[in-house]
Amino acid sequence: MLVEMLDSLGVKDINLSKYSQSFHRDSETLYLNDQQAKELSDRISKLRQTKPHLNFKGDALSFVPLAEVNSNTRADQITYTSENEQRLALHKFLSRSGCSAGRSSLGIGPNGKGILCEQMEMSSRFQFGDLTNQTILEVWNSDELKKFTFPEKEQFKGKACEHCSSFNQCATNKGQCFRDNYFYFNNLYEVMKDCPHRATLAI
Ligand code: SF4
Repeated sequence: MLVEMLDSLGVKDINLSKYSQSFHRDSETLYLNDQQAKELSDRISKLRQTKPHLNFKGDALSFVPLAEVNSNTRADQITYTSENEQRLALHKFLSRSGCSAGRSSLGIGPNGKGILCEQMEMSSRFQFGDLTNQTILEVWNSDELKKFTFPEKEQFKGKACEHCSSFNQCATNKGQCFRDNYFYFNNLYEVMKDCPHRATLAI
């Protein structure tokens, strides 16, 4: 029904993401169980056949058992048994849903400052602009925000990302998850926890 409505409105790209873990307020009761997740992925497969003009994206496309969804295993704790396995893992990683922070969403804190993501700490180092004396468009188009959302390789100095051949696809096009990087590494500019390069590169 939702897809029919979006189709009738002329929407071409539909990004479907399953309910997922957050660091503060996720509830186990809201996760899809395995049967529901499988049904959803099967339905999307059928829609892709009947509506080939629509471009479906997002993690709801493929069935992943709930136990894996909730896994906090970092890629540097995984041993890949072959180069091919690691290559496939990298492909999957680079096909992830991108981070929307500062790209398709703008957070505004109670003090009027822009915030990267509603799940980030309300600290001045993650804030930008000032809606009390700027327009939303000015904040949205500011270099201050772009520095966060479209980081330069130099901001990853000393990390594998600095010399990564997938940097444009990963950090520029998809966007790194500020929340994960901050909570796992206390640093925004890091090799992401799920990046297969964590298993092999000096980081
Ligand atoms: S090393 Fe960094 S830029 Fe390269 S794929 Fe991993 S997280 Fe992305």
